[in-house]
Amino acid sequence: MKKIVIAIDGYSSCGKSTTAKLVAAELGYAYIDTGAMYRAVTLYFLQQHVSLTNPKEVRDALDNIDITFHYNPKSKRNEVFLNGLNVEDEIRKMYISNQVSEVSVVKEVRRAMVAQQQKMGKKRGVVMDGRDIGTAVFPDAEVKIFMSADVETRAMRRQQELLDKKQLVNLNEIRENLQKRDLIDSTREESPLRQAEDAHLLDTSHMTIDEQVEFVLNTVASTIINTEQSVEERG
Ligand code: C5P
Repeated sequence: MKKIVIAIDGYSSCGKSTTAKLVAAELGYAYIDTGAMYRAVTLYFLQQHVSLTNPKEVRDALDNIDITFHYNPKSKRNEVFLNGLNVEDEIRKMYISNQVSEVSVVKEVRRAMVAQQQKMGKKRGVVMDGRDIGTAVFPDAEVKIFMSADVETRAMRRQQELLDKKQLVNLNEIRENLQKRDLIDSTREESPLRQAEDAHLLDTSHMTIDEQVEFVLNTVASTIINTEQSVEERG
């Protein structure tokens, strides 16, 4: 069967990556967490004290960054490496969440990440999640999903996720971080977070993970059937 691109965009902590991972496993596709890439850039910029308002410093820093994903059979997940070092756990911490949207606004950062993401998905057969996949990275993605959920549900889910990693963070702090990131992400000039016209809206406020995965898989199945039917009709 023809391999396609599945773009999953939406607000922070709607369950995008959990859903995307399971959909990818079900289809035998690669999963690419583009948020992890922006988080890894943020970690590097903080470590190197890169000034976001100095384009030359930003460009030089980007030239020295190598971001790769490697499957860890022990944790059964794709983990992100920054210049050969596993940073999967570090990039999920609150101090990165507090800075990542400011870094993601920077034009040079976006262009470098988008180019790398387009390369990673060139052969198709990928599920990519982020904020601008269906609008900027793969506007031609065969399936586009836009996820949303009420902020309280999202904050509680994120708190549980952090707790599972032994990080206890106050619910107000998490809620404020989600709202701040959503605002910066959706009002930035370069590839802002918005629902693509041809994206399917998925509100996960009252859905289980299984239901979310089923929704995406059903959308994929009907898209493939429709495409094959129209090819047959034409041919
Ligand atoms: O998906 P995650 O919450 O890990 O993303 C962290 C941040 O990275 C987002 O809040 C956003 O600022 C940025 N991001 C982005 N474009 C993407 C993915 C993430 O700007 N495609």
